[in-house]
Amino acid sequence: MSPDTDRARPLTTGEHGFMETGESRARELAALQETAQALTSTLHLPTLLEAIAERAVKLIGAERCAVFELDPLDERLHVRATQGMLPGEAFAPIRLGQGAAGSAALRRQVIFSSDVEVDPLPMYDELWPEAGATVRDVVRQRGYRAILGVPLVSRETVVGAVCLYWNQPHAYDEREAQLLTSLAQFAAIAIENARLYADMEEQRCEAELLSEITRDLSSSLDLALVLRKITEYAQERCGSDMAFIAPRDQAREAATIVTSVGTRTDAFIGVSILPGKGIGGRVLETKQPFVTNDYLNDPRLRHDYNLLAEQEGFVTNMAVPILREGEILGVLWVVNRSPRPFTARHQAVLTKLAGQAAIAVQNARLFEETQRRLGETAGLLKIAEILNSQLELEPVLKEIARRTAQVLEFERCSVFLWSDGRLQPVMAQFADGRAAPELWAAFRSIAQYRIEDIPALAEAIRRAAPVLVSDAHVSPLVPDWWVETFSLKSVLVVPLIRQGAVVGALHLDKTDPAVVGDHQLDLAMTIAAQVALAVDTARHYAEERTRTAELAALLEITQVSTSTLELKPLLKQIAQHTARALNMERCSVNLWREGHLVPVMSQYADGHHDPALWQKFKSMAAQHVEDVPAHAQAIRIKQPVLVEDARNSDLLERYWVDAFGIRAALVVPLIAKDEVIGTLTVDDARGPRHWSTAHVDLAMTIAAQVALSVDNARLYDESQRARADLQGKNAELDTFVYSVSHDLKAPLVTIQGMAGLLLNEYRSQLPKDAERYLGRIQANTEQMERLIGDLLALSRIGREARAPAAVSLGEVVDDVAAGLASAMRERGVRMIRGDLPTVWGIRTHIEQVMGNLLGNAVKYLGDAVEASVEVGTVDRGTLVECYVRDNGIGIDPAYHERIFEVFQRLQEVEVDGTGVGLAIVRKIVQASGGRIWVESAKGQGATFRFTWPKGPANGPNSRS
Ligand code: ADP
Repeated sequence: MSPDTDRARPLTTGEHGFMETGESRARELAALQETAQALTSTLHLPTLLEAIAERAVKLIGAERCAVFELDPLDERLHVRATQGMLPGEAFAPIRLGQGAAGSAALRRQVIFSSDVEVDPLPMYDELWPEAGATVRDVVRQRGYRAILGVPLVSRETVVGAVCLYWNQPHAYDEREAQLLTSLAQFAAIAIENARLYADMEEQRCEAELLSEITRDLSSSLDLALVLRKITEYAQERCGSDMAFIAPRDQAREAATIVTSVGTRTDAFIGVSILPGKGIGGRVLETKQPFVTNDYLNDPRLRHDYNLLAEQEGFVTNMAVPILREGEILGVLWVVNRSPRPFTARHQAVLTKLAGQAAIAVQNARLFEETQRRLGETAGLLKIAEILNSQLELEPVLKEIARRTAQVLEFERCSVFLWSDGRLQPVMAQFADGRAAPELWAAFRSIAQYRIEDIPALAEAIRRAAPVLVSDAHVSPLVPDWWVETFSLKSVLVVPLIRQGAVVGALHLDKTDPAVVGDHQLDLAMTIAAQVALAVDTARHYAEERTRTAELAALLEITQVSTSTLELKPLLKQIAQHTARALNMERCSVNLWREGHLVPVMSQYADGHHDPALWQKFKSMAAQHVEDVPAHAQAIRIKQPVLVEDARNSDLLERYWVDAFGIRAALVVPLIAKDEVIGTLTVDDARGPRHWSTAHVDLAMTIAAQVALSVDNARLYDESQRARADLQGKNAELDTFVYSVSHDLKAPLVTIQGMAGLLLNEYRSQLPKDAERYLGRIQANTEQMERLIGDLLALSRIGREARAPAAVSLGEVVDDVAAGLASAMRERGVRMIRGDLPTVWGIRTHIEQVMGNLLGNAVKYLGDAVEASVEVGTVDRGTLVECYVRDNGIGIDPAYHERIFEVFQRLQEVEVDGTGVGLAIVRKIVQASGGRIWVESAKGQGATFRFTWPKGPANGPNSRS
């Protein structure tokens, strides 16, 4: 009880009374204290109000009590608690100024009537509208006689009133009034505290609610979900029957109801709230809250939505704008079906919720924007990644086309390459990855069109800048057939620019009108730059790869060419390699002989055999070359002839194209020594083909190689034939020599016989000269016999019937040396011979070789002092190199070759001989697969060397 406050005043009055009747005063004080305690023990307003009523009755002792609370919004006093009254006895709300409660509250003073019949209350006989009677009627009906009313005032504000009622007239007791005033003061403070607490609670709830919403906002980026929650909170916090929210469409001015709670139907969902129409439209327009207690009939509003509102039974309605930095983002409103009005507190709550909704809408917008940007960045990144990870153009373009369509929000993206003034459709992809084979064919056929036929592309390429067509149906930039074929509405063409040059274009289209901002155009250009780079890189890579493949193909073709001289297998392999190197299905070779094409080879790249086709190919032989214009032209102009699309070409006859299913072909003439010797053709049934210079060059290089091979093979054929001819002739000659020698032998023997008879039987009768002549005849016939013998030996070589065998060279040499022993002794020749190996051959042949060489060595020693003859061998793998060396007269190198020919003698010294010996030796050595040569100079002695097999051919020691 602080004495320095207003509330102390009744106590002061009490103290004054205490002096008079100290004891009862002490009791009253104790009762007051008890009351103060009771009233401060609770912060719950209804409990408190009940306690006030109870304490008032206890303190003063009236039969009944009512506690009123003043509602500031309707300025009526509402009964909140009673004491001693029967259920239903409490009063209706009463206006300020009327009755005891109304006038105590209005006047802020105690109102007392000891007997209302004598001393009526203020406005006693005026109508009490809320009760439907006068105060007098009500008081009479209840049977009250004496009434005391005190105001509840806290900090200058009336918060209510307390009234006590007696059934009998009751004398006004100042002390009672003072007691009641004290109680009222306590009560007012307690009420204020309780209200503050309730406010605090309210605020705490609100804070909790807001934090909950905030949590929702941050945990959910689903705008629809957040807006629904906010709407539900609005309904809950405002205690309304219904609540709605309508975010504003950024592009349009209208807001659209996305959530309704508490409605009977979903009729409001999707309703567009136009500015100025209805309460929502008014808020959209004014950006101010709007409250009405009679929505359907409020003259301030336009009633565009009354039909719907009537169905739902709208009565009171409060709408607040959803604002963010002055921009209106939507409307939030609460509606009741009964005349329950919305209060200032409701409005505060709703405004707060609207604030949250604003954040949510903005977050969602930001999120959407971020997502879009993220999507773009991810798209760009992905594109960059694809560009870096792949060098193959096709998969790169496929991926890029799809991503580009996605990022730029078009349905489809096509890629065209632009080179040599030609537009090449290389890739088309839908953003969703779906395939459309029927469109693909149409797309590929664009290759046939001239660039001017597609102005949008032509324009973008010419200006090196993007071209946007928002309505292709009316734009001259997109031809009708293009619009129809691809069923498109809007088109964006972005040129692919590499180092200042346009290398192609991205063609984006969709079936909706396109809205393309600067940002998207920038993005498109960025992507296009990346794609141009990729195209460039991939092109380099492809060129590099083509070059490598070409080199490999050429290398293989060269290898094949040198591995065999047989034409057929050679052409077969070359044809296959050529088809592969040029990425064509088939390669054929025709030879050009005496004005006719001779089909010699046709091969598929994969090596498969098609007998039917082969027959058709062979039938070309019967064809007049002018019926195959491409070939005729290639042969005539000696230049390659290109067929890019066989169906649109005069170079191939229609039936021809059909028979072989040719779509693209290349015919290259085969030229050897300036003469066309045939044609090399590659063709393909898969589709038209653009022939690059590089490919034609490669085909020409291969053709040159083929021509060379064909020519080589021909030369080889010719040389083989010549060799066979020669062999035949040699054999004939041998036969001739053999028969002549043989036939000459008989008359020679007769001559020898006759000459011998003449000498033996008629020597005495013959003159001296005749005897000498006969001697000469005998000598010459002997020489002739030797000659014939040698010639016979020579011609017999090669038709030897005996089988070769292992022959000891040492034994042969020893035998031969024994035959020469007397001559060697006579001349004093030293014979040198080391270890000699076993060789493989016909013994008589080896004897003949060694006999001749050793014979010559001894014969041609001349007048050498310390004459010596040496025989030895050198190991040469599968062969033995054998040498016979002398230190005789030697041979001038000029004659080293000639001495091996028949009848060639040098006549340096007078010795017997036929000049056939070395010819026989050479023929034997060569027949056994070896060779013979001489190392010598005049007067320096001579060394004859020859090689001879160690073992049988194909045996373990033979040459592989
Ligand atoms: P001939 O019967 O004349 O010996 P060959 O064919 O054996 O016939 O030899 C041909 C010629 O080679 C001989 O006439 C001789 O002039 C020369 N000739 C052969 N062997 C020797 C040698 N060892 N030294 C010098 N000249 C030789």
